[in-house]
Amino acid sequence: MKLSNKIKQSFSLKENNLLKIDSTAKFFIEIFDLEDLKNIQNFTSTKKINFCILGEGSNVVLPNLLNKFVIKISFNEISIEDNLITVGAGKNWDDFVLWTLENGYCGLENLSGIPGSIGAAPIQNIGAYGSEVSNFIEEVICFDMESNRLVSLNNNDCKFSYRQSIFQDEDSLIVVKVKFKLTKDFQPNLEYEDLNFLRKEEISPFIIREHILKIRKAKISDPQEHPNVGSFFKNPIISLDELEKIKQILPRIKFYLYIDNKVKISAAFLIESLNLKGFALNNARVSEKHSLVLENKSEKSEDILDLASHIQASVLENYNINLELEPQIF
Ligand SMILES: Cc1cc2nc3c(=O)[nH]c(=O)nc-3n(C[C@H](O)[C@H](O)[C@H](O)COP(=O)(O)OP(=O)(O)OC[C@H]3O[C@@H](n4cnc5c(N)ncnc54)[C@H](O)[C@@H]3O)c2cc1C
Repeated sequence: MKLSNKIKQSFSLKENNLLKIDSTAKFFIEIFDLEDLKNIQNFTSTKKINFCILGEGSNVVLPNLLNKFVIKISFNEISIEDNLITVGAGKNWDDFVLWTLENGYCGLENLSGIPGSIGAAPIQNIGAYGSEVSNFIEEVICFDMESNRLVSLNNNDCKFSYRQSIFQDEDSLIVVKVKFKLTKDFQPNLEYEDLNFLRKEEISPFIIREHILKIRKAKISDPQEHPNVGSFFKNPIISLDELEKIKQILPRIKFYLYIDNKVKISAAFLIESLNLKGFALNNARVSEKHSLVLENKSEKSEDILDLASHIQASVLENYNINLELEPQIF
């Protein structure tokens, strides 16, 4: 089929974003064949329109009218070469985590239950329960829309750090496959406070997964019931001097050692200290279950973004700390 016959116009993204914003994309295509990616450049330059990538929409805030060519990558295949496993960008992240455990590979169990696709996992270096996906990525295979060819980035090239990677600055790179390096030698990672009650001798990757899924269910509201994109704010990374200043106002602030004499402090603690848990503004509110999660009841993005700005302003005014947004605002 010709590319032009696969492109949909004025395509509703309402079911493609977990905030359930009633967004319409000017053009939309689902890619099952690499050849189609090679031909998109022609179309976008003729129409003078920019492209953007959408995975499962679990970390984006969309406008009502998205005047872009939206590309969704739907490669799902898995290939194995010893302990290197290459997965298509369209595969669901948690289905892959379960697949690894069922096939005897360990490492990804702490990242169980994170929504979204394989292709998006390196973008913000997804992390949870003391683990980050960058610890397991060998290579990210991308299609470069500028040079119109495949390029491969090794782990160092990706410049991973806390909720960050090179992909957030390189708009021309579309992730088509991710190569993971996993092991069959189970080394449990129980350093996170919610897990350290588990006894090393009695656990398996499946037991860790089960615990994490249970905790996540209890702590984070289900996006199908209360549309949300998980944490709306990153945990701020500050210097030890700044930590001392905060401790004078909030002696019990939670913090974790980071690199280069820096600490990561709990954004949730800051928000809760300002009594903002459960706070509502128009059709958006801070979740009663988890103060980093903002729930949306509107078909537009304005209310949730206003609520986020209100929280950022309160934290800045009271603690002189900038809370960075975690989702991508389109
Ligand atoms: C309930 C809930 C809980 C969550 N918990 C966590 C958590 O514990 N830890 C965590 O890190 N995140 C968490 N998130 C955020 C989210 O799950 C991740 O960011 C996930 O990786 C997003 O995947 P996605 O496919 O939905 O990407 P999308 O939301 O569709 O896109 C996110 C970004 O990635 C880009 N992108 C997507 N696919 C590609 C591709 N193939 N190539 C290039 N760019 C691409 C998009 O352009 C966009 O900028 C949570 C979200 C929800 C809703």
